[in-house]
Amino acid sequence: MSAKIIDGVAIAKAVREEWKHRADKLKVRGILPGLAVVIVGDNPASSMYVRNKIKACHEVGLHSEVHDMPEDVTEEMVLRQVEELNSNPKIHGILVQLPLPKHIDANKIIEAISVEKDVDGLHLYNLGALVTGNQVFPPCTPYGVMCLLEHMNIPVEGQHAIVVGRSNIVGKPMALMLLQKNATVSICTSKTRDLKQHTLQADILIVAAGKPKLITANMIKDGAVVIDVGINRLDDGSLAGDVDFQGVKEKAGYITPVPGGVGPMTIAMLVANTISAAERISR
Ligand code: NDP
Repeated sequence: MSAKIIDGVAIAKAVREEWKHRADKLKVRGILPGLAVVIVGDNPASSMYVRNKIKACHEVGLHSEVHDMPEDVTEEMVLRQVEELNSNPKIHGILVQLPLPKHIDANKIIEAISVEKDVDGLHLYNLGALVTGNQVFPPCTPYGVMCLLEHMNIPVEGQHAIVVGRSNIVGKPMALMLLQKNATVSICTSKTRDLKQHTLQADILIVAAGKPKLITANMIKDGAVVIDVGINRLDDGSLAGDVDFQGVKEKAGYITPVPGGVGPMTIAMLVANTISAAERISR
């Protein structure tokens, strides 16, 4: 059996169109949703992600602005920039591109973002809201994964979902969102003994470890839904996920490619959260 390939590019386009209608309704009322991205330093991967985010905003007709700060900027200056954006009425969503240089405390910066403008969903309040099942701005990557599952009509309730990875931006919120949809959820980490023994039990396997080819065909059960969040730059310059796509696609029921799977969804959900922030403020 060969897996159905989940086309993240096409689904992200459909999601953006859906949200564009909502943005258009706001515009009729004189409200133009706006996103501000703060980027520190010149990490090429971060610059590329930011460019793609801004491009997606333009496609939907949102206002967007980028605040470039030099690598040696002080924490104080980044905090001041965030404060300025918090009080800017043209801006409904603020995203600070991670990672930040080591001398800047990322948690401190994220906590400085106004809860109403935290469209990345990483503020303690928004993560707490997720824990209690009252999500406001779900973190974009796991939100994008849930959206992929929904668009493909893949049932979640009662399924055994295994999440590989426990970061605050992907693994943990992913597990909470699956739990909210009544999946039975397990989380594996680098300390898990015998990863394969766990992944073989997954009806839905979500991998966010940042380790190329961590998951191979002998680690999944026939027909499993395999969602590859990983983005790894290989020595030859190409991109690869955490899943051995060629091998696993022969055994899985559904699989996401890298690139073209979860990545475009992360950006689409940022657009969605920004429009949602503008809707909330204008109610
Ligand atoms: P982190 O490095 O913050 O977390 C990686 C997690 O994977 C950790 O919890 C770690 O465990 C776990 N892990 C590492 N090795 C193994 C292993 N051998 N077995 C089981 N678990 C393992 O990464 P992120 O969560 O930020 O990102 C994960 C991947 O997803 C990266 O490739 C990143 O580039 C990509 N990404 C993609 C996005 C998209 O839009 N598609 C968005 C965000 C990230 P431990 O906690 O024990 O160290």
